Order: sequence, then C-alpha cells, then structure tokens
Amino acid sequence: MPKVVSRSAVSSSTDAQPTASSVAALRVYYCICGEFILVMDKSLASLPRRKTDGAVMIRCQDSELGKARVFKLNATAKDPVLLERANGYERQFKFHCPRCNLPVAYQTTPPPAKSGRVLYIIKGALSQVQGQVPPDAFEDERLAES
Ligand SMILES: [Zn+2]
Repeated sequence: MPKVVSRSAVSSSTDAQPTASSVAALRVYYCICGEFILVMDKSLASLPRRKTDGAVMIRCQDSELGKARVFKLNATAKDPVLLERANGYERQFKFHCPRCNLPVAYQTTPPPAKSGRVLYIIKGALSQVQGQVPPDAFEDERLAES
C-alpha cells in the first residue's frame, strides 16, 4: 500500500495561490451606514493623504508619478461647493452615499468620478468593515482632548 501523503505537504503546493492573492488584493469599503461605496486594488491606508484636509488621494489617471488605481466608486454626485483655501478658492464636486446621503468623496472636476487626475476620499468617511466606524473617524477629537 502506498504511503499516505501528509496534509501539510499537499497544502504547500503553489497551484491555488494566484487566485487567492488576486481576490485578497481587492479592498472593499463601506459608508458608516453600511452601504457599499468603494472597491479598489489597493488599501486606502497605503495611499498618500492630502495635507489640506487629510483626504486620501486616489490617482485616476496615469501620470509621471505612477499608474492610475483600479477602483469603482458607488456614490451620488452633487452640486459643487466652493471652499476657501490658503492659496485661493477650490471647487469641490462631492459624492454622497446613495443610502444615507453623507459625503464620502470629492474631486475638483465635474462628474462622473475619475474625470480629474485625483479622487479624494473624505477622511474618516469609509470603513473596511461593514457596520463599523472607521478608526480615523474621531482622530481630530482625540487629539483635541489630549
Ligand atoms: Zn451611508
């Protein structure tokens, strides 16, 4: 009778790994109300943040800085708002959660999403776990207390 191959030897095979890793590479983000908002090929935490307001910057177009991220935003576009910045005014086209209407993202060019170079995800707006408040949602309040 042939010797039984141990389970650990079988699972060390690399055959199934490409599929598993490509699924794991896609990150899904939810509004704090639980609505699905964003799916992306990279985690928000690994992307650069905007100095002005801490928003996460998602590159929408290939540039000299790198390739565009692969992502899909599920949000409703609203009328632009004008914000005063240190170096002048900035027009923001906001995207709101389709369920609770909370703003989740913005860009400085008119809709649809990805029409500009960068899409900004508002700080603390999205969570990777459905129904859980994102860890950075109360960041500023905590700093104020200490
Ligand atoms: Zn929502």
